[in-house]
Amino acid sequence: HAKALGRSQICIYNHSMQEKTKERLHLFNDLHQAILDNAFSLVFQPQLDDENHIIGAEVLCRWVNRGQSVSPDVFISAAEETNLILPLGRWLVMESCRTLKQWRDAELLPTSFNRLAINISAAQFMDPKFEEFITEAIRYHKLCPKLLELELTETLFMGDKHIIREKMSALSLLGFTFALDDFGTGYSSLSYLQRLPINKLKIDRSFVMDILDSKTPISIVDSIIQLGQNLKMDIIAEGVETNDQCAYLSNHGCHSFQGYLFSRPLTEENFLKFIRNHSSQQDV
Ligand code: C2E
Ligand code: MG
Ligand code: MG
Ligand code: MG
Repeated sequence: HAKALGRSQICIYNHSMQEKTKERLHLFNDLHQAILDNAFSLVFQPQLDDENHIIGAEVLCRWVNRGQSVSPDVFISAAEETNLILPLGRWLVMESCRTLKQWRDAELLPTSFNRLAINISAAQFMDPKFEEFITEAIRYHKLCPKLLELELTETLFMGDKHIIREKMSALSLLGFTFALDDFGTGYSSLSYLQRLPINKLKIDRSFVMDILDSKTPISIVDSIIQLGQNLKMDIIAEGVETNDQCAYLSNHGCHSFQGYLFSRPLTEENFLKFIRNHSSQQDV
C-alpha cells in the first residue's frame, strides 16, 4: 500500500512540475509577444510631503494578458529571468520620458512636482548600454536628468561593487538621482551605502505596516530614518495607508509619503485629474 501511495505521489509531483513548466513557458511566450505588441501600460502613484504638496510620482508598469491583469511581481521577475527586461525596460524609460515631457509642455504639473521615479531592474542597470540609452532618452525628450529618479533595489549590490559604483557615479554626475527602493529588506552593507551617490532611501512598506504594531518592540522605521539623516539622504515612506502611520512618520523625521492613504497608482488621465483636484483644494 505504502509503495502504491508513494508512486502515486511521485506521479502527482511530476504532473504538477510539468504543469508549472508549461505555465512558465506560456508566460515567457506571452511576455515576448506583449513586448512586440507594446501591450503594457503605465500607472502613476503620487508622492506627497507633509504640507500636502505633490512632490512627485512613481511610474508602475501594468500588463493585461488574455483578459487578466498580471501582477508586476510576476511579470517583472519573469522578464528579469530572461533578457526581456532589457527591451521592456527601454520601453518603460521611453514612455515615462514621453509622458513627463507632455505634462511639462502642457504645464500640467504643480511647481512642487520635482521627480518622476522609475524602477530600474538590476539587469537593466547592469546592461553596458544603460547609461548611453537613458542619456539619449533624456536628450531626445529635452528633459533635465534631475527630473528622473532611478529606483534601485539592494539586490543590485550583490553584483560587482566596483562597476556599480562607477555606473552610479557617472549617472549622478550627469544629474540623475537615485532612490534605494524597499530599503531594509535586502542586502546592503552600510559602509558601502555611504560610498554610493544615493539621494533617497525609500522605507519598505513592511516596516511602515509595523509602525503602530505593539508586538514589534523596536521601530525599524526610526532606525532607517536616523540612518538616512546621518548619511544625508532624503527619506520617503512607501505603503502609507493610515493617518496614524503618516503622523508617526512625520513626527519621527520622515516628511515624504507614498501610499493608498493619498492615492492608489492611477492611469495618466486619473493622475492628471488628481493633480487638478488637489490644486483646487489647496486654493480654497
Ligand atoms: P515597488 O517599486 O516597491 O512599488 C510599490 C508597490 O507597492 C506597487 O505595487 C504599488 O502599487 C504598491 N503600493 C503602493 N502603495 C501601497 C499601499 O499603500 N498599500 C499597499 N498594500 N501597496 C501599495 P505594484 O505596482 O504591484 O508593483 C510591485 C513591484 O513590481 C514594484 O514594487 C516593483 O518592484 C515592480 N515594478 C512595478 N513596475 C515596474 C517597472 O516599471 N519596472 C521595474 N523594474 N519594476 C517594476
Ligand atoms: Mg519602486
Ligand atoms: Mg518599493
Ligand atoms: Mg516595497
